[in-house]
Amino acid sequence: MKQKKKLIRLKFREAVFKRDNYKCCFCNETEMLDAHHITDRSEMPNGGYVKENGITVCKICHIECEQYHISNGKIWVKGKHPDDLYKIIGSSKEKAIKASII
Ligand SMILES: [Zn+2]
Repeated sequence: MKQKKKLIRLKFREAVFKRDNYKCCFCNETEMLDAHHITDRSEMPNGGYVKENGITVCKICHIECEQYHISNGKIWVKGKHPDDLYKIIGSSKEKAIKASII
């Protein structure tokens, strides 16, 4: 089970990085990249490990994107609200949920 989870995470990262050309979607950084879950894993079917729910971010931009989740949706960095992130990758929460169920 642990191995399976690890593989799901790896596949998710790879699919997100590939679509975003291995660059942070905000600052074009190419080092220390992460695949950020736009809607938190806990709110998504099957953890939301689909590229429709992921965006490539560097360490610094990732911290800014997490602000929304850390504050339970009360605070976010301008331009880094989940709606902004979905727009950047051409997705939406509805699309992400649909992709997660399949
Ligand atoms: Zn960045």
